[in-house]
Amino acid sequence: MAQVFLFDCDAMLSQASGEPTIDRSQLPGVLWSGDTLFPRIPETIDMLRSKGKQLVFVTNNSTKSRADYKKKFDKMGITAQEEEVFGSSYSAAIYISRILKLQPPKNKVYVLGETGVEQELQSENVRYCGGTDKSLLRDITPEDYTSIANGSALDDEVGVVLTGLDFHPSYLKYSLGMAYLNRGAKFLATNIDSSLPSAGSLFPGAGATTAPLITATGKQPLALGKPSQAMMDAIEGKFQFDRKKACMIGDRLNTDIQFGIEGKLGGTLCVLTGVSKKEEFLDEGAQVVPSAYVDQLGDLLG
Ligand code: PLP
Ligand code: CA
Repeated sequence: MAQVFLFDCDAMLSQASGEPTIDRSQLPGVLWSGDTLFPRIPETIDMLRSKGKQLVFVTNNSTKSRADYKKKFDKMGITAQEEEVFGSSYSAAIYISRILKLQPPKNKVYVLGETGVEQELQSENVRYCGGTDKSLLRDITPEDYTSIANGSALDDEVGVVLTGLDFHPSYLKYSLGMAYLNRGAKFLATNIDSSLPSAGSLFPGAGATTAPLITATGKQPLALGKPSQAMMDAIEGKFQFDRKKACMIGDRLNTDIQFGIEGKLGGTLCVLTGVSKKEEFLDEGAQVVPSAYVDQLGDLLG
């Protein structure tokens, strides 16, 4: 059995103020659906811990911070530490602080995203602008066109544009982002999930709210969430584990399972309580095939 388990975790039900209310009651995943735990989840996590396994909870949800996830775990009765959570916002924040090591005069990040991104940038002492700044939630004006074009509306310290899922996109925000990128700012994305499952259907994901900047500039962001190996490298750097003895557990083939396969982990386990269906990988010609699957995570208890 693997020594290390990288768990996909799923979206949060609680809403930050100003965040639109999403019906996540039927949001599927590995651990829970909305606020309902799948059967025997705390027991399964405890069983793995009792066998001395190291657990890391890896999420692409950039709208929440590690601290938010810790609260959710507590609420759901799952034993987990904030230090065991690794989200795409945190992944982006440590990439900026520890790899890019931004220096003055260009040490600020222009954010298109929610509080999860802001909180993780703060935790790494990275300066930022944009984000949930309410003054950007208005129609663009003739004065904005002029001041963006002549640069007076731009912050000269911005050296990076970072996008995450933004529930409040605006033409003004995209215009600023485009201007920074055209001035040479580095382009990062927390993750590029095309869609976000909710209420039994799919909604635009972080890839979709990042796409306008890709189209407008012709530039591609470096994504720091699953399946990006920049995230795997960062997780390995933090938790120091042997990839051959690690297993990625997830419900989505093109993020979780691909992440584990590209990372050359010892195994990947697809849990069928979430986005992907077994027909997708059992079909002949399937591109992404997990090494094993279970109907639900609790089945690991035997
Ligand atoms: N992004 C957002 C905003 C989410 O709410 C979610 C959860 O469904 C995801 C991405 C995917 O998260 P995970 O990788 O934990 O499944
Ligand atoms: Ca998931």
